[in-house]
Amino acid sequence: MQKYDLVICGGGTAGVAAGYIAAKSGLKTLIVEKNIHLGGSITSALVMPAMKSNTKDINCEFYKAFIDELSLYNGQITYCDGNTGWFNPELAKIALDSLLEKVGCEVIYDAEVINAKCDKNHVHSIEICSKTLSLHIESLYFLDATGDGNFSAILKNEILENFEHRQPMTLRFHISGIDLKKFSDWLLDFDKDRNVTTCDVINGEIHLSTACTWDKDRKWALWPLFEQGIKDGIINEADASYFQLFTIPAMPGTVSLNCPRIILDKDIDPLDAVSVSRGIITARKQIWRLYCFMKAYFPGFEASYISNIADMLGIRESRRIKGKAVYTKEDLLSGKTYENPVLHADYPIDIHSYKKDSSTLQHTTVDYEVPVDILKSANYDNLFIAGRCVSTDFSAQAALRIQTSCFSMGEAVAREVKKLLG
Ligand SMILES: Cc1cc2nc3c(=O)[nH]c(=O)nc-3n(C[C@H](O)[C@H](O)[C@H](O)COP(=O)(O)OP(=O)(O)OC[C@H]3O[C@@H](n4cnc5c(N)ncnc54)[C@H](O)[C@@H]3O)c2cc1C
Repeated sequence: MQKYDLVICGGGTAGVAAGYIAAKSGLKTLIVEKNIHLGGSITSALVMPAMKSNTKDINCEFYKAFIDELSLYNGQITYCDGNTGWFNPELAKIALDSLLEKVGCEVIYDAEVINAKCDKNHVHSIEICSKTLSLHIESLYFLDATGDGNFSAILKNEILENFEHRQPMTLRFHISGIDLKKFSDWLLDFDKDRNVTTCDVINGEIHLSTACTWDKDRKWALWPLFEQGIKDGIINEADASYFQLFTIPAMPGTVSLNCPRIILDKDIDPLDAVSVSRGIITARKQIWRLYCFMKAYFPGFEASYISNIADMLGIRESRRIKGKAVYTKEDLLSGKTYENPVLHADYPIDIHSYKKDSSTLQHTTVDYEVPVDILKSANYDNLFIAGRCVSTDFSAQAALRIQTSCFSMGEAVAREVKKLLG
């Protein structure tokens, strides 16, 4: 039986930040990750860019170290209004290994946290299981950074009730073999108003982004093409519900697609394996149709091919774990400040909907901060929560789930544990 200061369940967005800062500050730290690389949504679900938010530099040490490390592999660019968060997900796997190794954070891959030994309100150890080992690991403190709050579910920590419709999930993918020069020339001419299209040349590489949705909140230059695609029977309406395309640093001729949004006959519960599986099969069919559509309608895509389909479903929200405090939409909109805040941000409340014209992006009039009590479990005295499963209501989570905020939450947990251990 090994004993740690902090054991982190899940080496995703929040988990890696916690692991890096904890180990760097001298804590004996372990990350248990069920995949074979770190990064979670960033790497496995192919999610980028990290949304730009006015962080006021609060708990941003990990984010900066990550960007610096990724830059060593040419896997990061700064683009679109100075957003530093454009990552290459494959190179992020290498950079994260290297970064955590430098500070001495231990990692066990391919191992899932499946059980725990607890005594009333205290967690003593976790049980992890992989193909080759089943191990009990003791620690003074634990962090649930599993995204879905899987560790809290094992512990029967209180889960906050959900009164809202689920937000749609997305299975992201990459297309390669694109003539980006041809595509960008066409796109810049086609979207003359540049409502949502951006394009730049950085370090000799073309970088661009564009989007189109079925919502009528903006003039989407690409919409007539999607309408035509529907008429021609290449795609269906659901395929056209949400479309976003970006280039990826150090992947010339490749674009990342933040779609398809998975729309079934009813909301998919991200915690129900049967309906999620149906959703994944649906998504891969959608990916094929969207690819055929792009190949047929986008100049520059003639010789393109699907080069990657994410091996992790993009889930915007599932369990929210009850902490010592529950952060609400009202707290967020009021711009309340806190002593020693977990994070500072201005990212809007971004709620995706299954229905046409129903997604909302509510901008705040003031920046907001978050108190450390939302990272502390309501039921266990040595358990923390960070990432998208943090203790918030539905709407506040829709603002706080972005990567920069998840990094800050992980970092704040590490600093809190360091403080507690003196
Ligand atoms: C489609 C989509 C698009 C998005 N777009 C953006 C965007 O453009 N910009 C942005 O900033 N944010 C975006 N987000 C939000 C953001 O990416 C996520 O909310 C955030 O990365 C979640 O971080 P996390 O640490 O909570 O979880 P994750 O990063 O998902 O990490 C959880 C980790 O826990 C591991 N795990 C789970 N259970 C166990 C277990 N039992 N044992 C061991 N390991 C376990 C998983 O394998 C994973 O590595 C998007 C989200 C989605 C779904």
